[in-house]
Amino acid sequence: MKRFLQGILALSAGLALLAGASCNKTGGENGGNGGGNSGGGSGTPVETGSQLADVTYQLNVYSFADSDGDGWGDLKGVTQHLDYFESLGVSALWLSPVQAAMSYHGYNVTDYSAINPKLGTEADFKDLIGKAGAKGIDIYMDYVLNHSGSDNAWFKEACSSADSKYRSYYVFSDNPAADVAAGKIDNYAGAKTPGMGTWYTLSGSTGSGRLHFKLDWNARKVTVTQSTEAAQASNPSATKWLYYGNGTEAGLYATGGEIYEITVDFASDWGFLIRTATGNDWGVGKKYGAPNGAGGLTLGQPYPIAASTSSFDPGNITFAGGTSYFASFDKSMPDLNYGPYDKAAESAAFKDLAASADKWIKLGVNGLRLDAVLWIYQQQTSANVAFLKAWYDHCNATYKARGGSGEFYMVGEAWTGADEIAAYYKGLPSCFNFPYWDTLKDRINKGRGSDFATTVSGFRNQFRSNRSDFIDAIKLSNHDEDRTAESLGRSLDKEKLAAAVLLTSPGKPFIYQGEELGYWGNKGGGDEYVRAPIKWTRSGSVPTAALSGKVDNAMLSDAISVEAQSADEASLLSVYRKFSKARNSYKALAKGEITPVSSTNNALALWTLSFDGQTVLVAHNFGSGVVSASVSGISELSADRILVSNGVASVNGSSVTLGAYASAVFAL
Ligand code: MG
Repeated sequence: MKRFLQGILALSAGLALLAGASCNKTGGENGGNGGGNSGGGSGTPVETGSQLADVTYQLNVYSFADSDGDGWGDLKGVTQHLDYFESLGVSALWLSPVQAAMSYHGYNVTDYSAINPKLGTEADFKDLIGKAGAKGIDIYMDYVLNHSGSDNAWFKEACSSADSKYRSYYVFSDNPAADVAAGKIDNYAGAKTPGMGTWYTLSGSTGSGRLHFKLDWNARKVTVTQSTEAAQASNPSATKWLYYGNGTEAGLYATGGEIYEITVDFASDWGFLIRTATGNDWGVGKKYGAPNGAGGLTLGQPYPIAASTSSFDPGNITFAGGTSYFASFDKSMPDLNYGPYDKAAESAAFKDLAASADKWIKLGVNGLRLDAVLWIYQQQTSANVAFLKAWYDHCNATYKARGGSGEFYMVGEAWTGADEIAAYYKGLPSCFNFPYWDTLKDRINKGRGSDFATTVSGFRNQFRSNRSDFIDAIKLSNHDEDRTAESLGRSLDKEKLAAAVLLTSPGKPFIYQGEELGYWGNKGGGDEYVRAPIKWTRSGSVPTAALSGKVDNAMLSDAISVEAQSADEASLLSVYRKFSKARNSYKALAKGEITPVSSTNNALALWTLSFDGQTVLVAHNFGSGVVSASVSGISELSADRILVSNGVASVNGSSVTLGAYASAVFAL
């Protein structure tokens, strides 16, 4: 409620400021009058609140800004740049995981209640929360509930003894295939087979030592026995290969009749595969492993192997008799176990995780972003939804007990289609809308805007069907995707269009670190290439220590810096600031519901947004040519009603003209 009132009060000042005038001044990092909360002094335009628009900035703490010169971005670095977020009209920050973790990205947490010392101290975090809060900026933590890091003390304890109380925190089995088939693995809920993931054997279990492998190729079966024969070197001219351990490839020897054999000193914590190719050639039909859901090869008994196809990826072949643990993503990320989903909140793992969340919420955290919610129970939607509802209710209760206003914010990463995302709204108030960006980049690249508004409206209707107060978390690319610029052919005009569309769409927009500067990069060479540091000044250094040298220094030129783009009213950063400011100035733009508007030109995307008596018309040209088209049902357009625009925009009666990839918002 508080946010809404601020927006109304700011409206008249915003109209005067934005109509026909650029709202971006040149200057330092702030780039002029973004949507700050502080209010204007005498003689300066009255600033609008940044909370109306509900724009969130997603940042990687490890590469955002380095306060102490050690090459790592850190929490103090974030605190030092709060004015940057004000200039972008941002009212919340989603921080990459800040808890103690095993790797730079933080998604393998070793202590949920401690701050990663690479990023600073708990006092630094508290200071950030306080200083951001004073500017009306909320802090959202990234919470990883699907798995912990394998160096987490819980997991180490769990592995040390079958009697450990932490054994129940993870998914262990002595015979995964049988246990899954028998429905004994709670993590799989009602499914007999996992959507993805691997069982890893604990070190010290069977499947190590000198082993003889005999492959009967005609029968597609492999038999493994313990051996006292000498270990053999790999056969370099082999056609069949044993693949195990840390990328070990051992060529088998043909011994006649389509039989292939080798004896090796075997050590592997995940089992083995048979391959008909080596190196990076993992083509269809070249990888042989466990049939779906199977595992547990018994020494001395022939074991059937299955080939990869275009639709089937065989599992790792593990050994029966030992103990394995399950991991959806990586062996360093063992999945957490919350027991039967309808009693998840009673599990010891849930209670411990909840205690850690309570700590941070009491410290002032106002939201959580939940990682990988599809996999908490192996892509079992109803199970995940039940779990997430329990988790949300717990955190919201803590938030309210703290005296937090409104409802606690929580957004889930359900990276899937709109139908399934809609189902997650039964458990969570907000979900990332991945299909939004998929649709937007597809339509921009096709130069076709005509069905964009109806598609977005359709998504929202699906979400609304499960939660009337759903919060549609819209975004362009994030830290796990190829960059927006990469997907749009590094066309600056298309990037400006994408920014303008994002900030004129209904929902809660997220801006990912570097998007506002036009960073490019794809995941092919490593995820680090889409997690590049912010280049603050033309000639300054950037924090790259976390990124293992995987930094495109050619991209991080002086010209792409915040300093350079702040001095250029036509820069991408200026477009972000301008449209975010408009969103913070017009309640219809910030809170309006979308109504598609048809036009006579397929390149145009048109919609209205209406809220509390205010209506705006949003117009974007997804095409590469100048477009003039009449807007059906609207007869009162005029040039002095343009609230914000990028590129050429003019109007004549009910006809609007937009330059290539141009955007404009009109008051109606
Ligand atoms: Mg540092």
